[in-house]
Amino acid sequence: MASGSAAGCGGPILNPLEAILRLARERDMLTIVDAVASLGGHPFAADALGADIVVAGPQKALAGPAGISAVAVSQRAWTEIGRPDAPVTSTLSLIDQKHLWLDAGRGALPGTPAPLELWALAAALDRVEAEGIETIIDRHSEAAAAARDGLLALGLNPWAGEGEASNLVTAFAVPADVDATLLLERLRGTDPDFSLGVGTGADRLIRLNHTGRRADPAVVHTMISALAAALRR
Ligand SMILES: *Cc1c(COP(=O)(O)O)cnc(C)c1O
Repeated sequence: MASGSAAGCGGPILNPLEAILRLARERDMLTIVDAVASLGGHPFAADALGADIVVAGPQKALAGPAGISAVAVSQRAWTEIGRPDAPVTSTLSLIDQKHLWLDAGRGALPGTPAPLELWALAAALDRVEAEGIETIIDRHSEAAAAARDGLLALGLNPWAGEGEASNLVTAFAVPADVDATLLLERLRGTDPDFSLGVGTGADRLIRLNHTGRRADPAVVHTMISALAAALRR
């Protein structure tokens, strides 16, 4: 599985998705892309990339609810999913959902839909349509550039190289002479959207979250000012 933009949950580094998908296609492998951190944050053309299954959600760049997700399935993947020996009769079975909903003309949803999630999704999609997906992506690039420039101006090192960073979150390595736990504690006193890195060795990384409605250079400038003040202390 290749994550569409961020490695792991909200990670700061982009995966080389195009190259991974090309290698997989050359080997006739079916691919599943986790595009939760791509949709609305980076240009993402699932069909052009040739991904078989793409999973996404509205809870990051689209500033929508967290309890709902979307999946796009290629014809090739449907053939595999619909194999006679595949598990069926489950809400987790995509082929059941296909029969009960897609093939039935996309009418009433099967099972008991969660109306609050769907209303929240509709509201988020109204906002997305009003702003335009391209504008949302641009706003994320601008926020990421502001975060990168701000860190560099403070003499800090952005963790991801230029051109391989996520537009949703920017991480920096805490300088060796600074207590990362104490710094994070002070930062979170002003903004809970500072967090520690995820994974091995990540306890020396601090991340700035700038996605959804936070994908705004003004929000990022406030975070950078808070960081400057916390480092001085
Ligand atoms: C955030 C994220 C998820 C999971 O999202 P939740 O909000 O924790 O459900 C999955 N994949 C990627 C790439 C993400 O960035």
